[in-house]
Amino acid sequence: MLYLRKIDEDQWKDKILHDAVSISDLKTSDNDISVWKDDGTPGLVNKLALAYSLTTGRITDLWCVDIPDNLLAGFSFNPAPSSTIFSSMQSLHTNIVVPTLYEMGELAEIIYNLIKEEKQIYISEQELKECFYNAIKADEISIDFNDKRFRQFRKPLAEIEKEKGKIDFSRLHNAKDVENNRVSCHTCKGKGFIKNVCINQQFLKN
Ligand SMILES: [Zn+2]
Repeated sequence: MLYLRKIDEDQWKDKILHDAVSISDLKTSDNDISVWKDDGTPGLVNKLALAYSLTTGRITDLWCVDIPDNLLAGFSFNPAPSSTIFSSMQSLHTNIVVPTLYEMGELAEIIYNLIKEEKQIYISEQELKECFYNAIKADEISIDFNDKRFRQFRKPLAEIEKEKGKIDFSRLHNAKDVENNRVSCHTCKGKGFIKNVCINQQFLKN
């Protein structure tokens, strides 16, 4: 297993070991460092980066490191699902526990060494947008584009739709875009699934 962590590359590159600036990139409010579980499945890194981006409210290029679990043998984890709207990624979120500055320093050293070995990963905005498009199309994202919180995601989707073709929202249960006159799933009207069954279908069954 690998643990994916988003980094601010500028704060690490060409710095000395345990540079205070680098360590400040490991922000924590509760002694937890947020990471995502990557089992090495091709394409998963981009999906996890998108899941993270969707929690920040913007899709933009980013850097990350994929930390092999053998380097983290001395650490404990505090598993907690993410609130990301990329539903299938929620359970892949966890936290590395850093109870004191010593663990924080150790983790910083691990990340520092990975970057020194040029193992940091760059993910472009285009890659994230394509991933967003594919995930919406696969009905893996619970999003209402009319909701104020998610309106800013209309633009990246529109840009990629220009290249790859319009998504048919009538096939989707988890995405809604009423203001753009897109018809959502006729059965649940874009209200989504409960236990993998369209709400309305479940209602009819009961
Ligand atoms: Zn439905």
